[in-house]
Amino acid sequence: MNSKLLREKYISRAKRIVVKIGTNVIGGSREPLDETRLDSLSEQIASLVESGIQVAVVSSGAIGAGMRQFAMTTRPRSLPHLQAAASVGQSKVVSCYDRSFRKHGLHAGQILLTRDDFDSRERYLNASNTVHALFENCSVPIINENDTISTNEIQFGDNDILAAFVTHLIQADLLILLTSAPGLCAHPPFSENCVIEEKSAESSKFGARIDFVKCIDDSVLALARTETTPDGTGGMASKLEAVKIAVEAGEAAVIADGREDNILPRLLEPRNVGTLFLPAVEKMGSRKRWIRFTRRSCGSILIDKGAASALREKGKSLLPSGIISARGNFTRGDTVRICTEGGEEIAKGLTNYSAPDVRKIKGRKTEELEALLGQDFFDEVVHRDNMALA
Ligand code: GLU
Repeated sequence: MNSKLLREKYISRAKRIVVKIGTNVIGGSREPLDETRLDSLSEQIASLVESGIQVAVVSSGAIGAGMRQFAMTTRPRSLPHLQAAASVGQSKVVSCYDRSFRKHGLHAGQILLTRDDFDSRERYLNASNTVHALFENCSVPIINENDTISTNEIQFGDNDILAAFVTHLIQADLLILLTSAPGLCAHPPFSENCVIEEKSAESSKFGARIDFVKCIDDSVLALARTETTPDGTGGMASKLEAVKIAVEAGEAAVIADGREDNILPRLLEPRNVGTLFLPAVEKMGSRKRWIRFTRRSCGSILIDKGAASALREKGKSLLPSGIISARGNFTRGDTVRICTEGGEEIAKGLTNYSAPDVRKIKGRKTEELEALLGQDFFDEVVHRDNMALA
């Protein structure tokens, strides 16, 4: 398929979209925010909503806006001061979106999340239900990390990853990361996974904009590490990491320049702008995505070759007989990584047993479990329904 057909398939037909807007797109140079650009992006989003597309926005800009309101010239190093800036900046960000959306008969609904909200299935589903209720009430969710209470342990630290998680949260079919680069750019020779259709190749000092990426392998990840990548090295690396989380669950993703005129309607048309990343697999179900990508793991279970092939090729549950050892200190219901002895991750899943119990029953047959654990036992250490293959 050529680029136009792929863009029609993955971009123009999207019905639910997550748009991440970076600080470099809406941050003001002297003012807290570039309100003209924020207004224009809101107008573009309103036009998508008008055409029947559900749009959730993950917007940065709070810390930057707060710093400017406080006339801070450098980012505060003390956490409370950073959080104070985020607090004041966040209300500015949301009030600007709300003012812009009201012109189009829409509301802005603020949602602030921490990493912990994605670990708890209950909070995860609550957040998802709220987003859907906002869609039903002529509102655009404006999502950000809850910077005012986030500390290192519970932080995303980065809204690109938060946006990828939100894509899973609401089962969006497309993630659009708007930044200050035209897309993913590269100099020749190009990786065979990066396609540049000659007629679309625009070159800049960053290299040519890649039209679409078939698969994110090491050669593609390496592009973010080169000096020539616009948007700062860290910036593009975290974008590719976020894109990977989306495409590996079966969604498409785009990186595009949020400062370009009418970028969102043009992308959806579809015009050849930004870089499209094709889904790597068929769409994954909501629960498996949560297990695979969103929930943090608390340890790992190492399994033998026979168990690895039973999981991978035969779709079986993990039984004690194939287990070699358990690492970490997990309890029942926690998420664990299931790995080979060599460390290759085969799957992630919710364990029916704590780490000490796994150590007790490893290598044993199902018939032996009652003698080891009493009557209250499960045949499976990780049931197939609670497992997502890597
Ligand atoms: N949550 C931060 C803010 O609103 C931004 C984090 C990021 O840009 O990735 O300022």
